[in-house]
Amino acid sequence: MTGRAGTPSYRTARHGFMTGIDKSSVALMLEMASKASGITVVTHTRPDGDAMGSSLGLLRFLTAAGKDAVIVLNDRYPDSLSFMAGEDAESILVYEDEPEKTAGTVRKSDLVFCLDMNSFGRAEKLEGLLREKDCPKILIDHHLNPDTGSFDLVFSKTDISSTSELLYHILMAAPETGGDARRLPVKCAEALLTGMTTDTNNFSNSVFPSTFRMASDLLGAGIDRNAIVAALYCNYRENRYRLTGRLLYENMVITAEGVAYMILDKAMAAEYDIREGETEGIVNIPLGIKNVRMSILLKEDEDRFRVSVRSKEGVSANRCASMYFNGGGHELAAGGKLLKGKDIPDGTVREAAEYVETRTREFLGGK
Ligand code: 5GP
Ligand code: MN
Repeated sequence: MTGRAGTPSYRTARHGFMTGIDKSSVALMLEMASKASGITVVTHTRPDGDAMGSSLGLLRFLTAAGKDAVIVLNDRYPDSLSFMAGEDAESILVYEDEPEKTAGTVRKSDLVFCLDMNSFGRAEKLEGLLREKDCPKILIDHHLNPDTGSFDLVFSKTDISSTSELLYHILMAAPETGGDARRLPVKCAEALLTGMTTDTNNFSNSVFPSTFRMASDLLGAGIDRNAIVAALYCNYRENRYRLTGRLLYENMVITAEGVAYMILDKAMAAEYDIREGETEGIVNIPLGIKNVRMSILLKEDEDRFRVSVRSKEGVSANRCASMYFNGGGHELAAGGKLLKGKDIPDGTVREAAEYVETRTREFLGGK
């Protein structure tokens, strides 16, 4: 492992990368936090429940310990997740809303945590700032292929439900909790349980024995899971369901290779007044169909189609997203993008559909 110029003595072969959670790495992380006077917590662009849950969980743990910390995002979290931020909304800076103030805060901080992202590029416009910053950087993440060389301390584990769960186990290994979930700040515990719940799709995928242990301990500590589930899954606007019905009824195509794909273009998103975050979960639905092996949802933006890929055991969504959609993620859940004018020269829906059909046919070995 190569060292990053100008970084202090934190980087060692032992601490540079880890696949589990050992107490000495956790102690090192806490020592780095205790020495820092301003801490920046960064997560990936288009933040989802796990990105927000892990970031808020860490922010709340650090501030309860008297540290000065802020969350820095490339773009706003969706309204559907504003219940998670609560009073901490004030501690969240959004680069797209306030570029100068946000950049200034990042530049002033002397410790950076990157959560739920495997490389600086996942923070989009913050990438350059993060790369330039000459202070210790810590990665806590559960994605494949972490860019370990850019960090001084890495907690990376892929056989785990979520970054929220990974952070939970890290905090349980800290002397502040001594393994007792009741000693976590309540709002920190709530955020972590919420993040784990969204990344597992409410316990339907990526669930490990450790995931149930976390849930069990947090329920035992009095965290109200019913309230979390109600806020996440019983709080949608009607239009999301009307749109879902329309997509499944007249938009979804199922190819001979067992790929279901749907394309939400700008016109349809406008017709149903679809907001950021409201399509979360729709891509999973076609996997319920017996002969579907992979499901893909394309969402049109100005300059691109955003791509979500989900697959069943034996088909790698991660490989498909990294080979054809400029992205990646997890084995069975990944994402990426198709750039108009580049991947699809004319940028039309028809071209995007053809691209998906031909590339997935190639990917799944059809003719
Ligand atoms: P979603 O389909 O829910 O947006 O994303 C599914 C998974 O793929 C998430 O773990 C997310 O972090 C990852 N992912 C989504 N978009 C991208 C992307 O553009 N690049 C990479 N590397 N990963 C992505
Ligand atoms: Mn995640």
